[in-house]
Amino acid sequence: MVNKLFMLLIVGTALWVPSTSFAQGKYKFCGRWSYQFVDEGVGEDHLLHNEGNFGRIDAAYTWAVIWRDGSSVWSGYMDADGCTGEITALAGDYKFWVTTAINKDGTKFWIWPTDDENWQWFSKDYPDQPERPGLVVTHTAFFGFGEQTAAAAAVATHLVQQPNQGLLERKYNIYAKQDCLGQAGFAGCYDTVDHVYLGDDNFGNWVAFNKSIVAHEIGHYVQDKLFGRIDNNYDLDGGDEFPMCSCDHVESSNQAHCIQSREHQSAAQVEGFAQFYAADLYNEGSGSTAGFGYYKEVNVFGFILDPPVAIDVAIPFKWMENYCMPDFLTGAKGTELDWATFYWELNNKTSSAFSYTDLEDVYEQACGGGHCSGEFMTWFPLALAVTDLYGPSTPKALHFSDTSETHGVVHF
Ligand SMILES: [Zn+2]
Repeated sequence: MVNKLFMLLIVGTALWVPSTSFAQGKYKFCGRWSYQFVDEGVGEDHLLHNEGNFGRIDAAYTWAVIWRDGSSVWSGYMDADGCTGEITALAGDYKFWVTTAINKDGTKFWIWPTDDENWQWFSKDYPDQPERPGLVVTHTAFFGFGEQTAAAAAVATHLVQQPNQGLLERKYNIYAKQDCLGQAGFAGCYDTVDHVYLGDDNFGNWVAFNKSIVAHEIGHYVQDKLFGRIDNNYDLDGGDEFPMCSCDHVESSNQAHCIQSREHQSAAQVEGFAQFYAADLYNEGSGSTAGFGYYKEVNVFGFILDPPVAIDVAIPFKWMENYCMPDFLTGAKGTELDWATFYWELNNKTSSAFSYTDLEDVYEQACGGGHCSGEFMTWFPLALAVTDLYGPSTPKALHFSDTSETHGVVHF
């Protein structure tokens, strides 16, 4: 009898712990953007469909709000893992809100549906949550599947986490569900003021679900803010008799320009830079290939390839010299493809590589200092600028001239 009572006392003592010895529990919320891109799996390294036929990415640096019983208890930009801070885990109905506003160290991407709509908000409910003494409980939610602003947010959150994509400490505005204002017939554009528009193409497909287009238009934005948008007149200068150097075969989008069209060299640089930017965003620069999903039809010897057309931007196609009427006389013509592959090699791999900051320096030098907005640019002023900046026959100057010839952006 004594022994039983003794046992009871021991068990009872073991179960009894004063409540003050428990730290108050915490809740923490983590968000992931869900995405599904039509141009995924073309040989690229990043933003793949890591969940089968769709993908998810941490909603890093994304604005979030947590409600408890209808009142805000935390708000702010989430961390690099896409998580909020910890909040005291009191009992209540919780709601986790996120919106498509991203801010990493002052580099911001704000993504709206259209220019007359407010933020697109996404939420997940966690009703009847108990107190959680002594625990940190993390809730993870998935947001935005099939939604345009979320698709653009997936690109933007990936972008701000890259070490060098030419981003500045500023705000970049994107309207993810709106055709280009003032540019009829263009599904996606950067308006040279401060907006990217991502509308729908000739077949009604929203280009926000095309990650190459999202990155391409951001590439125009980056280019403009770094050194100015040079002249990009798409008038084909009387056209080109060669079908492989025109855009007559393009149906999904405008025929103003395409990756294979013979263009004024200035326009070819503007567009080639944007194609390169998209390839750079989704590929490791150290790789021997660079998969890029091109978003218009491509004509290869009369066979029309439907988009997305997988193009390896690490290959020097020399499209202009091989398939078009070259312009040996003035050097004032080019193709987007040649400039895209040129920038890719120029920017990657070697110790003499040109960073985005270097490209900014070269263009501004070529324009006589300051931004190049509206200036018609050919290869020659760029080559002179490289010599001025780095000296003749330096590794950097040689890298520039060698790469220029390899990719046929200069025609000797
Ligand atoms: Zn473009």
